[in-house]
Amino acid sequence: MTLEIDWTRCDGHGLCAALLPDRISRDEWGFPVLHGTKLPPDTAVRRAVAACPALALRLTRT
Ligand code: SF4
Repeated sequence: MTLEIDWTRCDGHGLCAALLPDRISRDEWGFPVLHGTKLPPDTAVRRAVAACPALALRLTRT
């Protein structure tokens, strides 16, 4: 699975980085930086996708 960010929606809440601290960090403006986009569709990743308040995260099959 590939994790993607829709930059037209993301507003830098940082919730995804808080939920997935080993997979996502934040840049100096608070926007997410992915540590690799190919991720296992584990529960934590799915929870972060569902929790994004801007609906900016999505998992796609690769
Ligand atoms: S939780 Fe959603 S809106 Fe917030 S930084 Fe992550 S992708 Fe962007």
